Amino acid sequence: MKKVIVFLTLCVSSICLFAQQTTQQQVQQPRPPQWNPASTEWYTPVPPTVKPGSSMGQPPSDAIILFDGKDLSKWESSRPIPADSERGRRPDPAPWKIENGAMVIVPGSGGIQTKEYFGDCQLHIEFKSPPAENYNGQNRGNSGIFLQNTYEVQVLDGDNNPTYVNGMVGSIYKQSAPSANAYTKNGEWQVYDIYWKAPKFDRNGLVEPAQITVALNGIVIQNHFTLKGDTPYTGLPSYTPHGRLPLSLQDHGTAVAFRNIWIRNL
Ligand code: MG
Repeated sequence: MKKVIVFLTLCVSSICLFAQQTTQQQVQQPRPPQWNPASTEWYTPVPPTVKPGSSMGQPPSDAIILFDGKDLSKWESSRPIPADSERGRRPDPAPWKIENGAMVIVPGSGGIQTKEYFGDCQLHIEFKSPPAENYNGQNRGNSGIFLQNTYEVQVLDGDNNPTYVNGMVGSIYKQSAPSANAYTKNGEWQVYDIYWKAPKFDRNGLVEPAQITVALNGIVIQNHFTLKGDTPYTGLPSYTPHGRLPLSLQDHGTAVAFRNIWIRNL
């Protein structure tokens, strides 16, 4: 009997010792993270409060108003300054006219650009094509919205106006046709909302290409498209390093009207 008691005591001691060693080993092992709902929540930095406009399309509280229907004070001519000009001379004033709360292209006067420079941005801009008359294709209501003075979102009459699809309204000119023709009717205002991620460059050239999402009349027609470079009429796109640059609007010889232009830096 005594032997049995001694044997059992030895067994219990061994088990306890083994359990203790196992616990120590477990403590030394790296533990998996102890997840709880709060583990994946953060509280700072708190995003700023931005008040929406009074109706869809109206500028929110933090937008830079580029055109409110009254004047062209935020714009200037995009014609190059002659090389023999005095140093530091500003470009000429924007040569377009104001009519009924809209800025209207004066054909042949040249494009215009913002005085302010932009990078990543959200842009709202509305346009109206002039009467179709006898013009067709690229000659009917052609203009363009050039992000950073370089990358064109095409402005064109899209009302029964066939042309090459990578040059129709809503195209990233000669790079990407829109996924839909969301243009309504000639004579009606068309609404662009454009979300722009600027290309990034370093000393050796391109690091990250530009990306764009475009909605026309609330319909997404370019979904996070990655640009191959600039948008030339002839030849292939390529990148030339740049920083922040003006937004510009094209004079392509037709009296397209623009209104309610605002932008948010992103
Ligand atoms: Mg154009």
